[in-house]
Amino acid sequence: MKAIRRFTVRTVLPEALSALDELAGNLRWSWHEPTRELFSFIDPELWKASHNDPVSLLGMVTPERVEELAGDAGFVERANGLRDALRTYISEPRWYQSQTDAPSSIAYFSPEFGIAAALPQYSGGLGILAGDHLKSASDLGVPLLAVGLFYRSGYFKQAISPDGWQQETYPVLDPDGLPLSLLRGADGAPAQIALALPGGRTLFARVWQADVGRVKLLLLDTDIPENEDALRSVTDRLYGGGGEHRLLQELLLGIGGVRAIKLHSELTGAEFPQVFHTNEGHAGFLGLERISDLVAAGLTFAEALEVVRAGTVFTTHTPVPAGIDRFERSLVETYFSTDLLPGVDVHDVLALGTEDYSGGNPGVFNMAVMGLRLAQHANGVSKLHGEVSRGMFSGLWPGFDQADVPIASVTNGVHAPTWTDPALLHLAEQKLGTTDTTAADWNSKAVSDEELWQVKTGMREQLVADARQRIRWAWQQQNPGSVVPTWIDDALDPNVLTIGFARRVPTYKRLTLMLHDQDRLRAILTSRKRPVQLIIAGKSHPADDEGKRLIQRLVTFAQDPEIRRRLVFLPNYDIEMAQLLYPGCDVWLNNPLRPLEACGTSGMKAALNGALNLSILDGWWPEYYDGENGWAIPSSDAAGDADERDALEAGALYDLIEHQIAPRFYDRGKDGVPTRWVKSMRHTLATLSPELSADRMVKEYVGKLYTPAGKAAGVIGAEDYAAGRELARWKDEVRKDWSGVQVLHVESGGLAAVPRVGDELHVRARVQLGGLSADDVAVEVVYGKSLEGDSLDDTTTVELVPLVEDGDGKTPTGAISIDGSTTFAGTVTLTRPGSFGYNVRVVPKSPYLASPAELGLITVAH
Ligand SMILES: *Cc1c(COP(=O)(O)O)cnc(C)c1O
Repeated sequence: MKAIRRFTVRTVLPEALSALDELAGNLRWSWHEPTRELFSFIDPELWKASHNDPVSLLGMVTPERVEELAGDAGFVERANGLRDALRTYISEPRWYQSQTDAPSSIAYFSPEFGIAAALPQYSGGLGILAGDHLKSASDLGVPLLAVGLFYRSGYFKQAISPDGWQQETYPVLDPDGLPLSLLRGADGAPAQIALALPGGRTLFARVWQADVGRVKLLLLDTDIPENEDALRSVTDRLYGGGGEHRLLQELLLGIGGVRAIKLHSELTGAEFPQVFHTNEGHAGFLGLERISDLVAAGLTFAEALEVVRAGTVFTTHTPVPAGIDRFERSLVETYFSTDLLPGVDVHDVLALGTEDYSGGNPGVFNMAVMGLRLAQHANGVSKLHGEVSRGMFSGLWPGFDQADVPIASVTNGVHAPTWTDPALLHLAEQKLGTTDTTAADWNSKAVSDEELWQVKTGMREQLVADARQRIRWAWQQQNPGSVVPTWIDDALDPNVLTIGFARRVPTYKRLTLMLHDQDRLRAILTSRKRPVQLIIAGKSHPADDEGKRLIQRLVTFAQDPEIRRRLVFLPNYDIEMAQLLYPGCDVWLNNPLRPLEACGTSGMKAALNGALNLSILDGWWPEYYDGENGWAIPSSDAAGDADERDALEAGALYDLIEHQIAPRFYDRGKDGVPTRWVKSMRHTLATLSPELSADRMVKEYVGKLYTPAGKAAGVIGAEDYAAGRELARWKDEVRKDWSGVQVLHVESGGLAAVPRVGDELHVRARVQLGGLSADDVAVEVVYGKSLEGDSLDDTTTVELVPLVEDGDGKTPTGAISIDGSTTFAGTVTLTRPGSFGYNVRVVPKSPYLASPAELGLITVAH
């Protein structure tokens, strides 16, 4: 029989064990190994059965065991010690507290958060990244307040049918059984936010709070009796529905999220954030709620927009156009033609998401476009992705070179304490004297090759055991009641070169590239001398049948009795599986269609565990591949068609495995240790770990984005938003008058017939400013290498200054000539030999702009 209702009864712990409640209640246990070991000690079997979830463990442990532990002075002392350490961790000054000028509070919005297996509120990389961001922010003391949604069923659980087809189930989560607490009003009742919907309906949500170390995470939940039935399911699952359902989720996340922050501030006294960071476009409506508040405070829409932009950071995560969130314009129009946002006109909202550039679709509302218009600070997630994003969104800044498009990049990182296997951590602790694996000297002789290799072998054994268990479960699920075949007991081999490949299954990730030449793959896997095994996992979006077909192809191939011990597909890729998968692999494979992988983080997690990467030069890999930390699969961007490209890239993949990877792995000394391989492992651990760590990433966000945004917000907001009002007025004027700006004439001099390095080029430009003044613009020489087609590359910009000619009677005031034009002049020093070219451009100039391209206005000399 099925239960119609479920809830969790928590154990009442005796006073002596109250520390356990406190430790279980803060998700820091998910990355703090000593705390995990404490919980495991309570009952190792139950710890496993609870999927390493302290709240669930405490719900299962027997009263006898609780009593026994309460009487165990050593245990009580250990628990109290860890609780005290947690309290210190939460309150002591950390890295951020020594930063000057950094904002005092930052809100971080994301549609998903992957923090721990116990809180499955993620679908893939975006969510795991958000979880890692929070954890590193906590470790560094960054004052983040995070906002998301509480999805009743998370994403989905994946199973595979006997014929290889993905099956989805949606187990319902019980928030009372999770480390969450409700935000409550002064009267003790759950606090709620409300959103006005079309037709006079209202969407209500309550707010769950999770403690992620020092960071608080607010999760909005609509499954409450106050909502009519249809609206209770707004937060039913992640990426579950189409247009309208998705829009409701995003309205709730953005607008409801800011309302939840205000409520949280009122109830707890927490500071209202100075900076708002939206992780991908889904939460973009947050800017509109803030505009609505500012309009209520007396600003115009345009003024409020400037204030909001100054303090907003937008991170874009996908170079795949289909991955960008778009809604039907008419749907957005319906939802904003209500009381949803008092003081905000629906046409102003629509304008923000309009694709009014060449190639844009007038019928859609684009969340990324709105994200960029609502944020003065934007970034992609690797250097290459920054470049690709500048190209992809260049239509929003017409006339500017791609390099000038104001989208920076911060390469993703991964949270080392979460993603480093405890075995490696203990090795660093015992032999290298540090619990920070990213700072350990992995090249030190204090760890011998044998020791490191032994740890790797142990992690591979652990993975093989886990994989067999998963294959067994999958078999039982597919064949209920029948005997599990014995081949599963020796599926995979803990001593064979192990390659991992796990990710979501959108087409561009090419799950099945390895199947391109099945005979060749078979030969590689079953080689007698140098066998290879592949462990594969990944979920396809439930609506993506193409992705499901790819999984099916792979699963079918893996059913071949000759292959099944060497290639396995593990159902239900999630954090729990991932934490054993990365450490257990020797090589991590990544073969996307370049340049569609924005960053990719699974390979980073593998590298933190000493795995070598085998990847197309996409995402983070071109930045970090150095010839010693893995292999680059050459990409055949120039191939005639997709098939030819696949063939070439798959061929290169097989070659690398056969001729380079397997020989190095199986090249053993007398002691059985692959010395050459271990050298690469050490190099990877020593050089990549600090770079790939989310600490490095969060520090970059603080330096490049949060601090400038906080400063800009401070300037714009001072004295009742005086600068914000001024900036809005000025932009309006500049936009109106820009058509009158013209470069009339450019002349240069000062060079010898054959210019040499060190010579000076004097440039003068006569510019018609229309209604603007010389202070409103920057007139600049842009110079660089001049290549074919007169394009300029590697450019440098030098600002020219208005020329004040004195007393010849031709210039009436300052630099203005009789024809009303202004002359600007300056000097460029030729610093390098070779072809040289220059041009003159005029752009708007104001101390409040973060980039000269901000207004998308530019005039160039012809
Ligand atoms: C890291 C991770 C991902 C993302 O990996 P990519 O390389 O970015 O595709 C997805 N799912 C899980 C469970 C992860 O741990």
